[in-house]
Amino acid sequence: MTPLNQKKALNRFQKNKLIQSALKVRKSAYCPYSRYAVGAAILTSSGKIYSGCNVENSSYGLSICAERNAIFNAVACGEKKIAALCVATKSPKPCGACRQVIMEFASHGCPILLVDVSLKDPFSNVLETTAAHLLPWAFVFNQRK
Ligand SMILES: [Zn+2]
Repeated sequence: MTPLNQKKALNRFQKNKLIQSALKVRKSAYCPYSRYAVGAAILTSSGKIYSGCNVENSSYGLSICAERNAIFNAVACGEKKIAALCVATKSPKPCGACRQVIMEFASHGCPILLVDVSLKDPFSNVLETTAAHLLPWAFVFNQRK
């Protein structure tokens, strides 16, 4: 995909590709305890898409969210700038931990697409927000003002 300038909005092709990636990886979610399957996909500044699903564990604290799996997947491949992120699940709302991790690698204006799979036509009802809107006062280590 074409590299994305973080100040530009996503084009329709990028949006659709990101949504399709999140929906596809959601099918791989390992969630035998909650039955709450989540898929996430991120577009990096280089134009590549990385995805992740939630993976639960019988010791609940060891479970990992789809958003962090997608981000850590990108970082493991050398990517450290999120240009856009998409989460697909029922009533999608990233948890606080994921919001903080998103802010580590995304600009404040980074588009966040929330796809509610419980809707009849999720593609037509994508909620679009920004990283800073999800976590306006993100923690920043050693920030000086
Ligand atoms: Zn989370």
